[in-house]
Amino acid sequence: MQFSEKLTNLAAEAEAALAVRFAEIDAVSFVNTNRVMDAFRAHRVSDSMFQSSSGYGHGDKGRETLDSIFAELMGTEAAFVRHGITSGTQALTIGLFGLLRPGDVLYSVAGKPYDTLEEVIGLSGERGNGSLADFGVSYRQTDLDGDGKFCTAEILETLKRDSAVKVVFIQRSKGYLNRKTLSVAQIGELIEAVKRVRKDVYVVVDNCYGEFVETREPGHVGADLVIGSLIKNPGGGMAECGGYLAGSARAVELASYRLTSVGIGTEQGATMGQNKSLYKGVFYAPHTVAQALKTSCLAAYVFEKLGYAVEPKWDEPRYDIIQMVQTGSDEGLCAFCRGIQKGSPVDAFVTPEPWEMPGYTDRVVMAAGGFTQGSSIELSADGPLRAPFTAYFQGGLTYESGKIGILSAAAEMLALK
Ligand SMILES: *Cc1c(COP(=O)(O)O)cnc(C)c1O
Repeated sequence: MQFSEKLTNLAAEAEAALAVRFAEIDAVSFVNTNRVMDAFRAHRVSDSMFQSSSGYGHGDKGRETLDSIFAELMGTEAAFVRHGITSGTQALTIGLFGLLRPGDVLYSVAGKPYDTLEEVIGLSGERGNGSLADFGVSYRQTDLDGDGKFCTAEILETLKRDSAVKVVFIQRSKGYLNRKTLSVAQIGELIEAVKRVRKDVYVVVDNCYGEFVETREPGHVGADLVIGSLIKNPGGGMAECGGYLAGSARAVELASYRLTSVGIGTEQGATMGQNKSLYKGVFYAPHTVAQALKTSCLAAYVFEKLGYAVEPKWDEPRYDIIQMVQTGSDEGLCAFCRGIQKGSPVDAFVTPEPWEMPGYTDRVVMAAGGFTQGSSIELSADGPLRAPFTAYFQGGLTYESGKIGILSAAAEMLALK
């Protein structure tokens, strides 16, 4: 791809300004890679663990060891990682159904959870489909305040008043909401306060898009269950599919009874040749996350200089890999996604078109030119066609290819003007 002199110079200017940020990102990646390798060494990872199992998968050493490695990396007592978990939503569903019983209350304290959880909770969709609401689990919510912080006083008050709250739910990443992403430190402070008034609740963290962005995970600051998807950060762009749940021994045990069956838990689960790509994925994950973060920083700089509002800004701290760019118009958002698609390694010849996606009120346009379908640790972008026409994008398996995607998007936007 050939880029104009203007864009080439802008990228060079951005990289000079970002040198310190990039060094910080590399330093985090080093600490996290060191943690991964320490865990591999401590658990004596060997190539025999990459062998395939079938049937029940009893005694699959590779699977059992990877579970322990994830527990260690997530700062928890226990964990399970399974290639057969189809998505982040399914992983979250396993966790919530594992912990909640009829009469219990699920309490979301960082505002509305991710869209796909609405039907799981029973906030939307038909009754009778088997949502948490159908099983007699009710839902409460407290939003973040205007500065994107927890309303701690209100949360503690609610916990004291409503003894039926069993799960306190925190979504770490902004996801596709217009709010700030929570840091591990903020999550830790809230957990400490929550546990002071109620030791009996489980704090569950939706960790999607947050893994390895900092050197600690929510499990290091007391979360009882931490949940994520392997086609995002912790799969390192290598895992072909899957999800993980990590937490206290009891919370993980309860979740494991939903994964398989009560009484069986994590003792079964054939890995069918997937172990190697899961190990390789977590090995790469800190590095791949760093590539995605650098790509986001570059985009923040470039698009701000081109006159677009961006969140976060290039020099702001980052707690997830998502970057928002307000494209300002229908055509702007489509041009942005077109450029990302053109600058992707797979399906670069495809033109993304807006469509009526089930479950969304506005039409949505998406760019996804990755090796793994739906993978969002790979360069991908989307956004609803409504003001301010925000493009949400994330990923980039390598900074170099991410940069090509960003410059391609910028070129498409400039061509509109
Ligand atoms: C992606 C995501 C999910 C759901 O994951 P899927 O794999 O798309 O089902 C849940 N929560 C957050 C914050 C996410 O980013």
